[in-house]
Amino acid sequence: MSLKVYNTLHRKKELFESINEGLVKMYVCGPTVYNYISIGNTRPIVVFDMVRNYLQYLGYRVEYVQNITDIEDKIIKKAQDEKVDFRVITSRYINAYLEDLRNLEVGQLSGMPLATESINEIIQFIERIINNGYGYVVDGSVYFDVARFPDYGKLSGQNIDEMRNTEDDDFSKRNKIDFALWKKAREGEPSWDSPWGKGRPGWHIECSAMSTSLLGRHIDIHGGGMDLIFPHHENEIAQSEAAFPGEGDFVKYWLHNGMIEVKREKMSKSLGLEENWILKNLLKIYSPNVIKMYILTTHYRSPLEFSMEKLEEAAKALEKIVTTLKNIDFLIKHNTYSGEMEEEKESDKRIASKLESYIEDVNNSFRESMDDDFNTAKAIGGIFEFIKDINSIIQKSDFKISPSIKKNLSSASDKVKELGMVLGLNFSKEILKMTEGVEAETKITKDEIENRIKEREVARKAGDYKKADEIRNYLYGKGIILEDRKEGTIWKTVNSKK
Ligand SMILES: [Zn+2]
Repeated sequence: MSLKVYNTLHRKKELFESINEGLVKMYVCGPTVYNYISIGNTRPIVVFDMVRNYLQYLGYRVEYVQNITDIEDKIIKKAQDEKVDFRVITSRYINAYLEDLRNLEVGQLSGMPLATESINEIIQFIERIINNGYGYVVDGSVYFDVARFPDYGKLSGQNIDEMRNTEDDDFSKRNKIDFALWKKAREGEPSWDSPWGKGRPGWHIECSAMSTSLLGRHIDIHGGGMDLIFPHHENEIAQSEAAFPGEGDFVKYWLHNGMIEVKREKMSKSLGLEENWILKNLLKIYSPNVIKMYILTTHYRSPLEFSMEKLEEAAKALEKIVTTLKNIDFLIKHNTYSGEMEEEKESDKRIASKLESYIEDVNNSFRESMDDDFNTAKAIGGIFEFIKDINSIIQKSDFKISPSIKKNLSSASDKVKELGMVLGLNFSKEILKMTEGVEAETKITKDEIENRIKEREVARKAGDYKKADEIRNYLYGKGIILEDRKEGTIWKTVNSKK
């Protein structure tokens, strides 16, 4: 099995081979910090976290850098509106962003550079571009000379001549399509000293400069939303390959996630939807695992609809997996077999080997799906098949746990948790929450539930069905449903928490 990824640069799936053996260098464009991030901004965070996890699962060491754009027109405008220094705005939203990342429970980055802390690298990068003949200075601003770079358009597939006709009111440029590498400071704007006078970097240049200074001239993966293909990523290629001409591609594989879409009329009719579009609000309703499940049950390149129904579906799907895992835990803990020494029946051995083959199947289907351009939708589908197979065994009324079944059931549970972690889904945490959630929601402790169940067992054995029913009703009143099985009674909540 080998990984294939869809490379936007060549518009096809290609075999993934890292530039350096065993190491993957990955750069993903981060947010511009002038607002709280939306669920739309969250998709690339979740997607590329999963990409990184899967590459690590395949045995690669991954260096993953994501920048923060902390100087840009929108930031300056917001600072002017609020009549504060731009740093007041950026530090507010950088902190909010870091908090969002923590709450989203995604993995650590190897680097998170800020544009304003990389001004020297950016200036040096622009100087290289000018010295190589691809940039020109006009009255304190520096522009990229697109006409000098014949490969322009290779990522987005756009035709330069058509692009030349686009409207632009910046008359100091040689061509309309040329873009700013360095912008001369206007009155009252934040600025830094440069060989061309006071100014600030253009947006595109920071990614070229920071990617090169942190990861080197050639990287394996550059990611971001499809909305960044043009002009942002097209311009990054032009800059990086003009700074080091004749040295080959800046990026080997360009990966782009699809957009999250919301129906306008739906958004305007529902205030809740507009509020929940902001990640920090959505995180108050749903756990990070539900949000990730929502994002990952659609292939990363496909468009994804944003609606509360979709999130509700994701919550239910997650609950299905977690409930099965919780039941397995329960069965293992309360197994009725008298011990390892007991002779196993043939039928038990058959069930145990069935479980073993299901584990192998889910493992293979997971690899196959993920190797096919990170098809998480299919990978999660495979996990659901597996859950269904396990349930078909443990939900049989005569099911009993033998030592080898116990061992394989525990491996099955570990397998689901392991594959979940590769996707970024922490099932163990959800199991814990389900149990803790019960105590918070129902004002009844787990110990009390289990003591009552034992009491009920005693009553039933003594033929006191009235008392047994009373206990069942008491627990139901506390939001707990009992399910009697051959191997014992298991419980779950009426409204399991999301
Ligand atoms: Zn970028």
